[in-house]
Amino acid sequence: MTQKLTFYNTISRILFLILTPVFFRVFNFAFIWHSLYWGVITFVVIIWIFFILISPLLGRIGCGWFCFMGTIQDLNFKNSLFRIKQKKPILWLRFVMPVVFFALSITFFFIHLNNGTIEHIRFIPNFFGTDLNRHYQHVWFYDTFGAILLGILLEKRWACKNLCFMGSMCAIGAGYSRLLPVIDSNKCTICKKCETVCLVNIPITDYLTSKNGLVTNSECLLCGKCIDICNKNAITIKFVWNRKKYYQSN
Ligand code: SF4
Ligand code: SF4
Ligand code: SF4
Repeated sequence: MTQKLTFYNTISRILFLILTPVFFRVFNFAFIWHSLYWGVITFVVIIWIFFILISPLLGRIGCGWFCFMGTIQDLNFKNSLFRIKQKKPILWLRFVMPVVFFALSITFFFIHLNNGTIEHIRFIPNFFGTDLNRHYQHVWFYDTFGAILLGILLEKRWACKNLCFMGSMCAIGAGYSRLLPVIDSNKCTICKKCETVCLVNIPITDYLTSKNGLVTNSECLLCGKCIDICNKNAITIKFVWNRKKYYQSN
């Protein structure tokens, strides 16, 4: 049963990794700043909003099971150049990125409103000039390349932790997630194998004492790797509707 989770997780990720450029081609896929630029709600924005909205219930499931960027960052970068193993996100960077993101989106919106001319300066960003779907196939390629580079230089999921706007928004919701890894303190031997495989370096066993085994970490991707590695079957992913009640009853 436990092996199945990683198996399905891998299938889901590979599928979405391959299908994303196809989606770009078939659907009118476009990013939020394109949405603002053209004044339309695009498919990507709908998906983003969907994953953000479900995060208080299902945590970072979008990041752990579907996002192609996340999948690429999880490639086996064991020997990254700077060997970073960051447990927590860099908070100021996480704050700055959405500000930059929205500032750019609003700027593009006003540029578009002014037909590309602001203060007599003609400004039409090249990347809006190309065919939209082709443009997004390029984005897929650049993102993939960027993710591989960051993995080689720094660590897996560094961009997810520190740069991604959607990741930051989902992390806020995931702070309330009802779907969580749970450790059984009667079975756990604190061997810490689960921590060595965790994609985002969560100090999983710390939650035995602080949260009665509920891994309430908003970076958790629900990938199931910790479950599969544990030969004591001490971790499961569970729905915990009432966290407070869980703390009291265990
Ligand atoms: S944090 Fe961003 S890049 Fe990483 S998996 Fe989530 S949505 Fe994708
Ligand atoms: S791998 Fe299992 S037994 Fe080892 S620390 Fe993690 S939960 Fe405990
Ligand atoms: S805690 Fe477990 S399920 Fe969550 S990200 Fe780490 S390995 Fe994956």
